Amino acid sequence: MASATSRTGLVGLGSRCHAWIAAAGGWGMSNAGLVTGRGESLLIDTLYDLRLTKAMLDELTPLTAAAPISTVVNTHGNGDHWFGNQLVAHAEIIAARGSMADMRQVGPAEMLTLTGLDSPAGHFARRIFGRFDYTGIEPVLPNRVFDGETVLDIGGTEVRLIDVGPAHSAGDTIVHVPSAGTVFTGDIVFARATPIVWHGPFTRWLAACDLLLGLDADIIVPGHGPVTTKQAVREIRDYLEFVHEQAHARFTAGMPVMDAARAIRLGRFADLAESERLAVNVHTVYRELDPALPPLDGPGLFGCMAELCGDV
Ligand SMILES: [Zn+2]
Repeated sequence: MASATSRTGLVGLGSRCHAWIAAAGGWGMSNAGLVTGRGESLLIDTLYDLRLTKAMLDELTPLTAAAPISTVVNTHGNGDHWFGNQLVAHAEIIAARGSMADMRQVGPAEMLTLTGLDSPAGHFARRIFGRFDYTGIEPVLPNRVFDGETVLDIGGTEVRLIDVGPAHSAGDTIVHVPSAGTVFTGDIVFARATPIVWHGPFTRWLAACDLLLGLDADIIVPGHGPVTTKQAVREIRDYLEFVHEQAHARFTAGMPVMDAARAIRLGRFADLAESERLAVNVHTVYRELDPALPPLDGPGLFGCMAELCGDV
């Protein structure tokens, strides 16, 4: 199956791999995956709240009854990929070292604070995250950390974990199942939506795209959006190169960062969803070019995106 599909819910990808594709796209509506072997399976990511994660686990039951989830990989440290961990706390939970740092920095308590702010950032956060319930979530962090690459044997199915970060976040794990020609990319790939460079550097994300394009894997399960192909990886790569070039030129010209974000015309990328992420992406380029620029905190970054999409 090398073609893109718009199916949602549980999507079979051959005998060993399944994708869990969020019914609606957008902020926080993340995907997950399941790799099955003899007598056990690997879950790739949990979801943004307990209700969503439980609904997914219930739908996976026909598969996991015979092959219980023994291992979980959190692809990275954004909450929409791990806040449901407490429902699979019996498993070995694995993440890249950088992802642990992100998880410690922003947990459910920080999201409750952000979405409760009386400010443009808070208003914007409530608009995009209001569908999620962060109450009652106990942060369950991974109990196994890896650096670089590691290989898992899930009941006879070989699974390769590769940390391609820092890029989207401080640690970004892609999950490659060679025998199924499938790769679960976490948020290194957004299908039909704008990538957001929370961390960078851009060069690491471009290298991650090149690594994905070089893999013997035609089926791409993105962190957000429908199951897709390498064409989506090429589009992400093109967007990142375009934005870096555009922001770099304005930085060199001495333009303030938000003026640059407002001035950039996205052209063929204008139709990608969540285009306001450009504000964060331009900030990240500016900080790469001038490391003395202070980083913005969560409310600062969401405030910039609120401004760019006219929420102020
Ligand atoms: Zn995500």
